[in-house]
Amino acid sequence: MKAAFYSLTSCEGCLTTLITNLGPNLQALWKIFDIDYFKLVREPVGGEKVPRVDIAFVEGAVVTSLDRKRISQIRANSSFVVALGTCASCGNVAYSASRGVDLKRRRLRDIEIFEAEPLSSHVNVDFELSGCPVSAEEFTEALLRLLNGIEPKQPDFSVCYECKMRGNRCLLETGKACLGPIAMGGCGAACPSVGAPCYSCRGPAVEADLPAYLKTIRRHGIPEEKALGAMRAFTGKKIAELLKDGRK
Ligand code: SF4
Ligand code: SF4
Ligand code: SF4
Repeated sequence: MKAAFYSLTSCEGCLTTLITNLGPNLQALWKIFDIDYFKLVREPVGGEKVPRVDIAFVEGAVVTSLDRKRISQIRANSSFVVALGTCASCGNVAYSASRGVDLKRRRLRDIEIFEAEPLSSHVNVDFELSGCPVSAEEFTEALLRLLNGIEPKQPDFSVCYECKMRGNRCLLETGKACLGPIAMGGCGAACPSVGAPCYSCRGPAVEADLPAYLKTIRRHGIPEEKALGAMRAFTGKKIAELLKDGRK
């Protein structure tokens, strides 16, 4: 089976996290897959050429003309495309930060710069593995499922669920705009467990109910704008869609 790992515009933190956290298991990855392209680990076999593979893992958002060309080539040459991390799945910080900015004259030599988009704005994506950065455990689980011909799956619970399981006191009661009720779980409620509100860095929960969430924060006397500002930080395009569909 062939696989490839690519970076579009990003901090490369997802692939770096995988390399660091997989540790010795990274070698096992090479035993299982024929990997022609994983630039952070070694020189690609065919140079910059996008190889034909069974699975492509892509981190980063689509920001430049180079990214646009690259993601089309990756899609054309890959049977299964996985968006790796919140930049790739939602657009992340770059999505909101690039809105309302005059990008017309922004160029890097002959490379054009556009408003940041997740991969799914440009190509069909087969699976999204969110997280900023992605979790090595979730990556391994998705990989094992794919190797066994089983569809990988996203966590179908919110951060709130994990937070309550850990017995934490709810931060909404203290006036903090925690996004746990609408945030995709899987991180073990890492932030609320140390007293910091969740910013939904893994994107929205599968069944995020925005109107119900806004009603809840109003009940706690938390200004809506405070929560909306937090939502825009990481959830990029997905929060824009949620707001369009469900803000009542
Ligand atoms: S999702 Fe986070 S860690 Fe991954 S590339 Fe984007 S900013 Fe970096
Ligand atoms: S602190 Fe946040 S994640 Fe925890 S229960 Fe309250 S809203 Fe949910
Ligand atoms: S911001 Fe939310 S989703 Fe991200 S690690 Fe913290 S608790 Fe988890």
